[in-house]
Amino acid sequence: MQLIVGNWKMHGRLASVAIVEALVRAGPVEGVELLVCPPATLVARLAEAARGSHVAIGAQDCHPAPEGPFTGDIAAEMLADAGATHVIVGHSERRIGHAETDALVRDKASAAQRAGLVPIVCIGETLAEREAGETLSVVARQLAGSLPETGRFVVAYEPVWAIGTGRTPTPEQVAEVHAFVAARLPEGTPVLYGGSVKPENARGLLAVPHVGGALVGGASLTPRDFLAIAAAAPGAIA
Ligand code: PEP
Repeated sequence: MQLIVGNWKMHGRLASVAIVEALVRAGPVEGVELLVCPPATLVARLAEAARGSHVAIGAQDCHPAPEGPFTGDIAAEMLADAGATHVIVGHSERRIGHAETDALVRDKASAAQRAGLVPIVCIGETLAEREAGETLSVVARQLAGSLPETGRFVVAYEPVWAIGTGRTPTPEQVAEVHAFVAARLPEGTPVLYGGSVKPENARGLLAVPHVGGALVGGASLTPRDFLAIAAAAPGAIA
């Protein structure tokens, strides 16, 4: 079973419920789990639209605490209450744009588990780190520092230089990192690939050994593209 996740980032209004309605109408893709992570403002609305269907709804970030004086933040418990089943933590846009450390990402992942959500922990090297030959050491450090101690979680390997750029690593580069990551995780932990996944390159990326699905940004905003990516998963029957 591959997991195909849409990360809407800071896109979407109430009318965007039509995207989830289209995914629901299209019916399940056998062998594939679909998860849509909209901005927090839309979690409850989309969860209502997807209720009882094959589409799950997640979120993009959470605060480590269950409640408290944290203006503007959202607790994992609130996301669960709104109908989320998963939450992305440690996306590079938060690690870089909000100076999030591995320790904070770990606290957020643990908070997600406390609330009954499955955290999707993002890791990945910058272009400078790849060019310096540091990819595996960066990924090892992020794994050591940002994964929860126990419990269920998903890892997403997203090279920072591949996010929103149209550039992707070669299948060999993806294979190297995914094998490295998988060897450091409990058996059966899904490891997603993320970074410019499109209908045209999804088949090749999803067929790489130890790739358990995709984290999709831009292409997840168009139901046709998101479904084409899901249909490209090995073993998928649309
Ligand atoms: C992402 O936001 O996690 C991502 C991979 O974006 P894109 O697919 O647009 O590169």
